[in-house]
Order: sequence, then structure tokens, then C-alpha cells
Amino acid sequence: MSFASLGLIDPLLRNLQDLNYRTPTPVQTKAIPAVCSGRDVMAAAQTGTGKTAGFALPLLQRLVQHGPAVSSNRARVLVLVPTRELAEQVLQSFIEYGNGLDLRFLAAYGGVSINPQMMKLRKGVDVLVATPGRLLDLNRQNAVQFDRVQTLVLDEADRMLDLGFARELNAVFAALPAQRQTLLFSATFTDDIRAMAASILRDPVNISVSPPNATASKIRQWVVPVDKKNKPDLFMHLVAENDWTHALVFVKTRKGVDYLAAMLDEAGYAVDTIHGDKPQPARLRALERFKSGEVQMLVATDVAARGLDIDDLPLVINVDLPIVAQDYVHRIGRTGRAGASGVAVSLVCADEAPQLAAIEALIRQTLPREEEPGFEAEHRVPQTSATGQIIKKPKKPKKPKVPQAASGAMQKPPMQTGENKRKPAARRAVAADRGTGLSSGNPFNVQKPAGKRGKRQP
Ligand code: AMP
Repeated sequence: MSFASLGLIDPLLRNLQDLNYRTPTPVQTKAIPAVCSGRDVMAAAQTGTGKTAGFALPLLQRLVQHGPAVSSNRARVLVLVPTRELAEQVLQSFIEYGNGLDLRFLAAYGGVSINPQMMKLRKGVDVLVATPGRLLDLNRQNAVQFDRVQTLVLDEADRMLDLGFARELNAVFAALPAQRQTLLFSATFTDDIRAMAASILRDPVNISVSPPNATASKIRQWVVPVDKKNKPDLFMHLVAENDWTHALVFVKTRKGVDYLAAMLDEAGYAVDTIHGDKPQPARLRALERFKSGEVQMLVATDVAARGLDIDDLPLVINVDLPIVAQDYVHRIGRTGRAGASGVAVSLVCADEAPQLAAIEALIRQTLPREEEPGFEAEHRVPQTSATGQIIKKPKKPKKPKVPQAASGAMQKPPMQTGENKRKPAARRAVAADRGTGLSSGNPFNVQKPAGKRGKRQP
């Protein structure tokens, strides 16, 4: 199968050649003819499958071949995305695939000034890639009207619902022309997504491609059970032990991101961070530096989890599990692309058992547990079944109470709290060996002595 046999026009084929795309991916093979023919599409495809080209190429073709030219404060194609990062990436794809086509593209998202976006919309655009909130703001201010929208694309629809954009989406749907083409792309198909699809799609072509990571047994995934407070040290231990030198690291909170980044920095790694409080240009810069290899370790919160376009990433480390199970799939979707082998390791504490169970239910497999010697969890992470059920440890039968006076047995003195608890070797080693200089505000509850860590990583 070639792109030419899918009926794409010459300028697009030339651009694809320049980008060195030789053969269409499965989602492209199915989506391109469907979109070209004007059909609605419902596609189960996640990042890494080539879904962006799956909708961008045929839409560019339709923009060139059909319909009136762009007019002021109007857009012909509207692509809704959950995050600004994804908005930038999708915009970039349109620019690359549509090179030389004389079409106008714009990405509009929140967190940056609205005025430049309003200015650019004055002349109108062929493709507007937008996050739902900002799009509605622009619409309310009459910077963009929806009456000329020919095609609506929902990219990562599940993520948009996860982020609480349902109301904004419904407002956009209500304002769009009823006569239009709608394409819905989602990594996962929950009941909410199906309900939304049923209300906005007309006789859609259904496309389902297996996520590259689900089929790629090349991705080795495992869980390391650990106590929460020991996570930072286990993380540093694993990184050093395995010689991991290029990884995307996910942490729940911004504080946690800063904490781990400081540890890595101190250990000699080139590190950068991405989180919600960081201005957009700084986030994009961090991503670029990571992609280029200038930064070895990119530590990020959930905000950054979706839509990062990083090919062939060998390693994802979940220091915290995501709250939403689908995010696990999206996170590890960044490894093992295009046939590369990948590793996805998750540090899981007892509190995260329900999240782990939800993830295992979603991916329909039990992730192997591999305790790390010296970091064994005192608070046990329960086992789960393949369907994600938490398997409760069978309770020990209670011993019948023997009245003290009658037993005549020697009574042990009461145990001191914590006396018999084993101190993990990890903590002992850490206490003796290294300090981070990050004694206060530790988001993982570790108290560290001051001092300099000896080992420096390459
Ligand atoms: P996406 O799933 O749209 O995020 O695309 C994942 C990555 O695959 C992006 O870096 C694309 O540039 C790349 N890609 C998409 N389609 C092809 C193709 N047919 N051949 C080679 N690379 C592709």
C-alpha cells in the first residue's frame, strides 16, 4: 500500500516524500479514503499510530479541492484538542503536510494572550486547531464564527472529557452547522465517549487499530512495589542501577516534579521539567531539548502526559501512577514506537492499589511485580486479578481468646511501636550515603540528612 494508491494529490505526496513517510500506517490506510469521501469517522487510535496524518492529509486535500475560500473570522476545519502541547503538534503536522498549498493554519489555546490569536483570525483560517475553552472565548468575542465549518475533528476525545471539557464541547457542537463532517479520534472508548459519538456522528466509518504499545510485546512493563516515602530513593537507585540515561519521568504533583528534578540534577543528569505552572514557551523548549538529547531526563506531571510527540523513547518511569487509568496507556504509548523496544516501569505504593487495579483492568493484563532488594514495601501493594480486581489477602482465623489469669502463660512485655519493624536497607543506605540538601517540603515524606551525594552519573 502506498500513499499514492490512497488517492492523495501530488503536492501532498511530495511533502510526504520529503518527510520520509514511505507507507501509510493502518489508521491512515483506513481513515484517508473515508475522510476524502466526506464520511464521518470514529477511530480508536492513540498517539503513535499516525492518526494525525490520518485526518490531516485527507482534510488538506478536501480543503484544496472543495468548498469556498476562507473568509474573515471564519474557519473551514476545526480541530479540537485537549492540551496546548497537542495543539502545537497538530498545527505543526498541518504545516508540514500542507507545505506549499497556500492554506492558512492557526493554533489557539489558553494560557497565552488572546489578542494575537484574534488578530490572526481576522483574515480567517482554513484550519483552526484549538483547545475547547479558548475556542469558546474567541467565539464569544466574535473573533471566530462557526457558520462555515465544514469539518470538525475531535482529537483525543477521551482526554478532553477527562479534563472536564464536556460542557465546552457541547456548546461547540450546538453552535456548529448541522451539515458537516465529524471525525472523532480517541485512545479509549468509554461509555461517555460512545454516548458523545452517538450524538454527533452520522453513519460513521468505524476504525480500530491496535495501539502500537498494546501489541508490541517489545515494551517491557513492570511494577515495583514500594513505600511512598522511599519512592525518590528507589527511583534514583533504579536509574543508576540500570544506567538509564534518557527517560520521561511522570510524577503526580508539581512539587514532586521539582523534587526529583533537583535529585537528578544533583546526581549530574541534564534534566528539565514540564508542568502546568510553567509558561508555554518554557514547556515547549523543555520538550525540544529532551527530544534533541540535550536533556537526558524530562520530569513531567499529567499535564504533559498527553500528546507529547517523542519517537522511539526507550523509557517511561511512572514515579506516581496516573489518577486516570487511560493516562497510563497514553504515557507508555510514548515508548516502543515504530518497532523500537521500550521499557515502562511504575513505582507503586499501597495507596495506589485502586489506580493499579483500574490500569490492569483497562489493559487487560496483570503487570508483573518486581520488588527491588532493599526497597521492599512495608505497606503491601495488594495483588490484582487480570480483570483488575484487588485480591484481598485471606484473613487469618482469629485465635480464641484465652483469659489471662487462666492461661498461666508468661506474658511478653508490650512491644514498642515500630520496634520490630524492619528498616529498609534502602533507607539505611540513603541515610548513610547521601543527602539532597532538600530537607524541607519533601513531597514524598522523606527526611534527608544534609550532605553531598558521592556518585555522579555519566
Ligand atoms: P501520531 O500518532 O499522529 O502522533 O504520529 C506519530 C509519529 O509517527 C509522528 O512523529 C509522525 O510524524 C510519524 N508518522 C505518522 N505517519 C507516518 C508514516 N506513514 N510513516 C512514518 N512516520 C509516520
